[in-house]
Amino acid sequence: MNYKWLVVCLSLSFTMVTATSCAGEMRDGLGKKDSTVSMNQEDTMTCKALTPEEEKVIVHKGTEMPYTGKYVYNKEDGTYACKRCGEPLFHSSDKFDSGTGWPSFDDAIPGAVKKETDADGRRTEILCANCNAHLGHVFYNEGFTDKNARYCVNSISLDFNKQDDGDAAATGTTRTAVFAGGCFWGVEYHLEKVDGVKAVRSGYTGGAKSNPTYKEVSSGRSGHAEAVEVEYDPSVVSYEKLAKLFFEIHDPTQLDRQGPDIGPQYRSAVFYADDEQKKVAEKLIAQLKDKGYDVVTQLEPASTFYPAEDYHQDYYEKTGHQPYCHVYKKRFDG
Ligand SMILES: [Zn+2]
Repeated sequence: MNYKWLVVCLSLSFTMVTATSCAGEMRDGLGKKDSTVSMNQEDTMTCKALTPEEEKVIVHKGTEMPYTGKYVYNKEDGTYACKRCGEPLFHSSDKFDSGTGWPSFDDAIPGAVKKETDADGRRTEILCANCNAHLGHVFYNEGFTDKNARYCVNSISLDFNKQDDGDAAATGTTRTAVFAGGCFWGVEYHLEKVDGVKAVRSGYTGGAKSNPTYKEVSSGRSGHAEAVEVEYDPSVVSYEKLAKLFFEIHDPTQLDRQGPDIGPQYRSAVFYADDEQKKVAEKLIAQLKDKGYDVVTQLEPASTFYPAEDYHQDYYEKTGHQPYCHVYKKRFDG
């Protein structure tokens, strides 16, 4: 073992700082830009309950003993996420064997890791940019790899999501999410601004007829909802983050309407692609109900999504107008 790195990583390792709640650590950009929200400005995730061992490192900025973490020798392909909030932080392709006893990466997922001068005034602490969980430290110019950086991370601050062949997250492909929350122009407008979202299409789903027209859907008799299909990169943004934003940019307590738009085509609905998406939506709805929101959002299995006529796509971008009934409103704890 290379003793030098052990000293570097362990020194001041058990410095205790004032414990802060996850919520208290959230970045809060609410109200600064109102309608032009992005997920990086208003994160409102639920923090996982931590074990005392996890809390020692993640909250109190301790350091696990070298060679004791479960990911030191992990060479599997996948993504390392924040133990506390689940945000993807590191790709296995950036992991290298530093011989230090801690998982080491020469790069982080862009924007996922925040750097601050450590309490020792010397080292650079790395934290989850989303929830401020302590991860470890970053060191430069040690010559390990071409990138010349070593993100020295505690295994206990991480969760590993293994790549499997069907896993879009790790294969670089995208996934889709379908939401209906009133006039699709406004829903599309907000979701397009999220980092990790590749494309948002306005369209119709949830009805019986193939290739419905706007006129047919507008009649309220076709059974379709005005919806958006979000294509996103799950290694950058999670389904949960998108779903949370969805619940915060429309009013999920309005039945078959959204503001001035009235009719079942304007219903609030999550069209889930799989059980995982369904569970996330159920969880978020339960959280909102706990907070007193009388949520009427329907959960419907995803069916064929019919893109709307061209003139409906990117409506606000094309017209330069602002959404008339989709304004961001924080509803989840932050
Ligand atoms: Zn986090």
